[in-house]
Amino acid sequence: NTSITIGSTTDCTPVTIGADSSQPVIMAGPCAVESRDQLLTTAQAVKRAGAQVLRGGAFKPRTSPYQFQGLGIEGLHLLAEARTLTGLPVITEVMEPGMVETVAQYADVLQIGTRNAQNFPLLLAAGRNSKQLPVLLKRGLSSTIEEWLLAAEYVIAAGNPNVILCERGIRSYDPQTRNVLDLSCVPLLHQLTHLPIMVDPSHSTGRRELVPIMSRASIAAEAQGLIIEVHPDPNTALCDGKQSITPEQLEKIVHETAMLARMM
Ligand code: PEP
Ligand code: MN
Repeated sequence: NTSITIGSTTDCTPVTIGADSSQPVIMAGPCAVESRDQLLTTAQAVKRAGAQVLRGGAFKPRTSPYQFQGLGIEGLHLLAEARTLTGLPVITEVMEPGMVETVAQYADVLQIGTRNAQNFPLLLAAGRNSKQLPVLLKRGLSSTIEEWLLAAEYVIAAGNPNVILCERGIRSYDPQTRNVLDLSCVPLLHQLTHLPIMVDPSHSTGRRELVPIMSRASIAAEAQGLIIEVHPDPNTALCDGKQSITPEQLEKIVHETAMLARMM
């Protein structure tokens, strides 16, 4: 099994995912970086709750062009400041090939979102990033396992073996949940690939009340990490508030999933 170290090039506490690390890696933070105050408050709170990596979107792939698009470069600066403050490595999304090097200057993990899961020029650019930063590759909105693994191959073929797969739900017909969390893909992927596998219980369900139990279910299915949206005041979030949990709820998930992983 591939083990990938996150945060070895910046001023933070590195984290390893994959191989025999028995503790799940919890990445947590807001969907979007909204302000300095919001990000620094959330970063300290998720650290206190036990998360090992801070997430936060600076460039947001929003469905409508009239929705909040993220703070862009300013968001990257704030993420770097939050890292210095907390010692947490940072993951953030990159949406275009031409921005890979810029994002890589600030991030510890490059996130490729579901909408870009088959953006081959972006995958190649992420694979060539000069710091060899790990790439977290979300499953495409309706991608098959094979398409997803071949997308990962684009990053690897470009020279970067550090790919983390992340199941974030696939599209189906029932709007009761935002997507359908395909948990069986986790054990299946363990048979098919040596890459670390994570689950995103936030985007897969779209409902905050389902996040704790699907987090536990993901770890029971042998996911090696979780990426969870956390906001100090979810109801006022500029993006994805309905699926965002509070830092207090995160702390409980961290404890429960650590306990579960120890039992397995
Ligand atoms: C996100 O992590 O905020 C995000 C946009 O995720 P996805 O690409 O899975 O929709
Ligand atoms: Mn989101």
